[in-house]
Amino acid sequence: MSDRSGPALVVPHTGGREVLTVEQRTADSPGPGQVLVEVAAAGVNFLDVYQREGVYPMETPYVAGNEGAGTVVEVGSEVHRFAVGDRVTWPQGVGSAARYCVRDADGLVRVPDGVALDSAAAVMLQGLTAHYLTRSTHEVGAGTVALVHAAAGGVGQLLVQMVKSLGGVVVATAGGPDKCSRAERLGADHVIDHQAVDDLAAAVADAVGEHGVDVAYDGVGKDTFDASLASLRPRGTLALFGAASGQVPPFDIQRLNRGGSLFLTRPTLAHHLATRGELEWRADEVLGAVADRSLEVTVGGRYDLADAARAYEDLEGRRTQGKLLLVP
Ligand code: NDP
Repeated sequence: MSDRSGPALVVPHTGGREVLTVEQRTADSPGPGQVLVEVAAAGVNFLDVYQREGVYPMETPYVAGNEGAGTVVEVGSEVHRFAVGDRVTWPQGVGSAARYCVRDADGLVRVPDGVALDSAAAVMLQGLTAHYLTRSTHEVGAGTVALVHAAAGGVGQLLVQMVKSLGGVVVATAGGPDKCSRAERLGADHVIDHQAVDDLAAAVADAVGEHGVDVAYDGVGKDTFDASLASLRPRGTLALFGAASGQVPPFDIQRLNRGGSLFLTRPTLAHHLATRGELEWRADEVLGAVADRSLEVTVGGRYDLADAARAYEDLEGRRTQGKLLLVP
């Protein structure tokens, strides 16, 4: 049996960043179908914030973190896919922000040769999200015009690159010159600094013409929702996948009619990893693209578990570009 004790980032009860505590924990031994992983890095996500604040109710106390990568150090019974020493990664399931965590083997995928563990941890949740948004929610093809908000953020940078690799046209929005140049460098065709414009929808129309965009990928929520809706072409799709600026208030469905028979969806990653096959398909494509260098993953910061509150403060305070990692 391996040593299974180490630091873990614990949420003792619902609350703000101040409730986060680092405790010494001994992980359970892996049960049937499970493995014990020594975690190399865990991803920092808005999902962790929504869970900690109680927007998504959780039983407390629990160990934070929904995504990570590491090395298998112990294997339970009935596990056929993985052996001790395998490098693995996962996009969902709390308990990731700890030196050791037990995972269901069915939720893990292997990290390909040539991909560092921290790159895998950095790309799973946000990369698989960008994957389902561009392949399943609204399939991007040659000439598809896509509006991408927070284009220098974690999901945003990956969305820009994926839309481009599928032949689409990207209208990116971001806050400030640094973030805008990042979006441009990643291939965005039009970049709008939302801090420099009064009317975001008018700026999008200036960029792509009155006809509008085919799809708006909006993870910002409250502050961008109206502009996203107003930027769509008739029968276009608004994929509202997050609420970095706050939840969108209740909505008059007739606006979809008036806007031109529009589609509105509020998708979530878990529903797009419904089967083992779906997880493998999306992860193979995303990790494969990281391995062959066609998808660039930016790690915008690495934090000790003891500095986790600062990591979330930076993310929520829109001070970051790309992905933040916790290193237990
Ligand atoms: P980001 O790295 O994109 O950080 C959030 C960015 O949103 C900020 O940097 C900022 O960019 C922009 N923003 C605009 N207004 C605000 C505000 N008031 N407060 C904070 N940020 C603001 O984060 P992630 O890539 O981790 O996540 C982006 C969104 O995607 C989140 O809403 C998250 O919940 C969602 N998400 C949804 C998933 C799903 O399956 N539904 C899965 C994964 C993430 P700027 O300064 O350029 O405006």
